[in-house]
Amino acid sequence: MAAKRKICLTGPMRIKIAEDMLRAASCELVLGKPQDDFRNFRYERKELVNLVGDSTIIYPSGRDFIGGDVLDSCPDLQAVVKSSIGIETVDVDAATDLGILCCNSPTVENYMGVAEATMGLIVALFKRLKLNEAFIRDNGWKELHNRGTLMLGKTVGIIGVGRIGQNVAKRLSAWGMKVLGYDPYVQQDTVASLGVKMVSLEELLKQSDLVTLHVVLTRETRGMLGMREFRMMKPTAFIVNTSRGQALKEAELVQALNEKIITGAALDVFEQEPLPANNPLRQVDPLRLILTPHNIGANPGSAEAGQKMAAESMLAILDGRIPDTIVNPLAIPRWKERFCS
Ligand code: NAD
Repeated sequence: MAAKRKICLTGPMRIKIAEDMLRAASCELVLGKPQDDFRNFRYERKELVNLVGDSTIIYPSGRDFIGGDVLDSCPDLQAVVKSSIGIETVDVDAATDLGILCCNSPTVENYMGVAEATMGLIVALFKRLKLNEAFIRDNGWKELHNRGTLMLGKTVGIIGVGRIGQNVAKRLSAWGMKVLGYDPYVQQDTVASLGVKMVSLEELLKQSDLVTLHVVLTRETRGMLGMREFRMMKPTAFIVNTSRGQALKEAELVQALNEKIITGAALDVFEQEPLPANNPLRQVDPLRLILTPHNIGANPGSAEAGQKMAAESMLAILDGRIPDTIVNPLAIPRWKERFCS
């Protein structure tokens, strides 16, 4: 009997690349509630377990949290595959213990899109784009206090020097900026060749004219920047976060901006998404805070590329192969024991 090829898409998307590829490879698809229903819909655990049932793979949407209890309740489940880079909505530790493979989809379109968008936010902050635009729309003209900063020779601190952080570093170095990095896990020689000087977090915060966050969300990075860290920064400094909202303490950032402990910020990601209507970030002086709806890195082709990579990972697993996109290789021995013998 042929092995089961049943895949649960918890939040099928408007773009159907992955669905089409999986159907073409004779997979049976279980479709949940469409992801478009992002704002008002969350599965109860039992609903999710019933939906997944005896599927071989879960392909979850960004909306849906795949906890250890769900993984443990689905005995045929071999893998969870995401079409994004971030995989913190899956309990990867629990999956590893159960021998369930977890994969993400770090496509060039995705990480370069975010690196380029981060550059845009950095330039907008240093050059006071919003302030100058608001001024001219209000019938103003050039004023001394509206002038931006010369970026040449200024220092940018990159926290998390992985794919996105490194590509931001390359671009900043090419603009003649000094680049500091903090990342306890990255290969030091890789980043040195990009002109990044690795320092302690404290030194980075104290020396940087702008700090940009590019960490993965983990127990260590959750809430890693708060008032204590903002107070270490220069009062003229800016913060950019295009990584994950939970990496910085949002309420403390609001306070730091309102009390002018730092000068400005740009955020593409938030503790709660979509950003609630009454979120205090919306009350901060808009000329000092740029907000974008977790979309600044997206580009025509980025979602498609992520879906294609995810579908390729799923098809590899169904064929008994380990895809390069695996994020929990420690799960492999137990996966082999449970599903390949
Ligand atoms: P990556 O895994 O290549 O890089 C993350 C880096 O964080 C790694 O080098 C890792 O060593 C480092 N890190 C881990 N723990 C750390 C710690 N305690 N202190 C400092 N550094 C630490 O990931 P990436 O592809 O560069 O993505 C970076 C972030 O961007 C992720 O959170 C991802 O989810 C997010 N992202 C956001 C968007 C968006 O639309 N805004 C799109 C893609 C990715």
